[in-house]
Amino acid sequence: MKLELIHVGMVMTNCYILTNEETGEAALIDPGDEADRLLACCRDRRLTAILLTHGHFDHILAVPRLREASGARIYAPAAEVPLLMDSDENLSGPWQGRPVSVRADVTLQDGEEFELLGTRIRMLLTPGHTAGSCCYYLPQEGWLFSGDTLFCESYGRVDLPTAMPDAISRSVRELLALPADTRVFPGHGGGTDIAHERKCNPLAHGWKEEDVK
Ligand SMILES: [Zn+2]
Repeated sequence: MKLELIHVGMVMTNCYILTNEETGEAALIDPGDEADRLLACCRDRRLTAILLTHGHFDHILAVPRLREASGARIYAPAAEVPLLMDSDENLSGPWQGRPVSVRADVTLQDGEEFELLGTRIRMLLTPGHTAGSCCYYLPQEGWLFSGDTLFCESYGRVDLPTAMPDAISRSVRELLALPADTRVFPGHGGGTDIAHERKCNPLAHGWKEEDVK
């Protein structure tokens, strides 16, 4: 599996392109803006899926244009559907003046696994930053796409619509139970890995390896 990172939009969201080079199929994670640039990046592949970690404007603004141009199917947590549909709550209207409603084609439950690009992907529901925020875990690759839940030595803000300030710590600590060598690809900023976050994340305080079952 090939992985590429493109920074898009005014808040430099990390949009990831996953490509199965054998089949030429590709998937995007969090295409937050600049749809035409992303389409150009994917012009030599077949864009079949768009995975959304949550519904904020800076992760979804390019979705309508990408869907129209490619026919890619949109994957999102079922718990995030209301925010994806509501251009006030997803802040695309009030903050960007570009109101967007996104309808998911595939709605996922916590822990649900699906096959994509010849690999297995597990959706881990991680409420906190928004009520339906999630991460996508690829066990075969040892990769975690952590959206705005887990950042390098940090975590997502919990003061925006549907945020659950009491839930973010539990969500992050559940992620810390993934294998130590899991590479973490967040929605903003640089990458990290689970071993580093166990030591350095502010929400890891008191986290013990013995807790991992
Ligand atoms: Zn966000």
